[in-house]
Amino acid sequence: MKHIKYRFSSSSTDFYFAYGISHLKEITDPGATVLITDENIFNAHTKRFKGWRTIVVKPGEEFKVQSTVDSIIEQLIGFEADRKTVLVGVGGGVITDITGYVASIYMRGLQFGFIPTSLLALVDASIGGKNGIDVGVYKNMVGIIRQPRFILHDMFFLNSLPQREWENGFAEIIKHACIKDAAMFNELESMTLKKYQQRKINICKLVQRNASIKAKVVQQDEFEKNERRLLNFGHTLGHALENQYGLMHGQAIAIGMTYACKISEQLNGFSQTERVTNLINRYGLPTYFSFDKERVFEVLKMDKKRERKDMNYILLEIVGKGITKTIPLSQLESIISNF
Ligand code: ADP
Ligand code: ZN
Repeated sequence: MKHIKYRFSSSSTDFYFAYGISHLKEITDPGATVLITDENIFNAHTKRFKGWRTIVVKPGEEFKVQSTVDSIIEQLIGFEADRKTVLVGVGGGVITDITGYVASIYMRGLQFGFIPTSLLALVDASIGGKNGIDVGVYKNMVGIIRQPRFILHDMFFLNSLPQREWENGFAEIIKHACIKDAAMFNELESMTLKKYQQRKINICKLVQRNASIKAKVVQQDEFEKNERRLLNFGHTLGHALENQYGLMHGQAIAIGMTYACKISEQLNGFSQTERVTNLINRYGLPTYFSFDKERVFEVLKMDKKRERKDMNYILLEIVGKGITKTIPLSQLESIISNF
């Protein structure tokens, strides 16, 4: 068990690494707390929710929408939740996003915390305060940046995590290694997903290392003016593919990272694409997808990282060092059409 406090611009988040949901009552009063989770997690771990008022929503990205927000708000009114109520999202990225969003708007704002239960949420989605929902094909189109009070890790939840969700999480871990941590990249090259799953201590350490990478980047640049943009490595094209072809997030950004490496070769003299693609494949993720370039570019243009006629694209200089490059949309279009 390890407790670390990360300070952000206007608030701080307490990280409780390797704790357990049994410690939640020491952090927040059960009488003034409502948990939000999804059916998969609730059904696999019903006992662990005993003694907590819990709102259970349908699982999956397609429910990260306004109608789910409305239904949660109605249930909160039913519970007579007030401004002192604390919301705790227990789940993957969809649950943490939606919990933070509801907590930010219900009665103009409640406190909230997270117990991330997917690998992706542990290393990425729960950290950094981005909360929001999707609108049509546009992911995270509506939302707010607001930091959770606390994030509590309970690694026991991972026992029921489906294999493809493990792979999904490793896409973000590989991303962190590419942009920030060459030593971790080496470690990943020498390990396998199976070894991490079999050795609790290794996955625990890896999760904490990645949560710290993300928290530090956010600390430096909470509102994404520069440093935080690096976390979008693989995500510009990735999001467009995810939206258009219904790929899983991890698969989409794995492909996005591969193409970002190829763009890095062209514009930056990057020479380690093969090392990156080998690692992506090692963790069961794809590096190629045949897509309709025009259609994907149309969606890609709407990306939040666009500034008028330029796109801020994240490239690699070497493994372990990501950089932001401003690419005119016209140039980006021709690069993508020539893939
Ligand atoms: P993310 O990949 O961003 O974490 P989700 O919140 O959609 O996105 O979670 C991915 C899927 O994994 C969902 O179907 C969710 O119900 C499921 N899930 C998350 N955590 C667990 C868990 N510990 N056990 C079983 N299923 C889980
Ligand atoms: Zn991502």
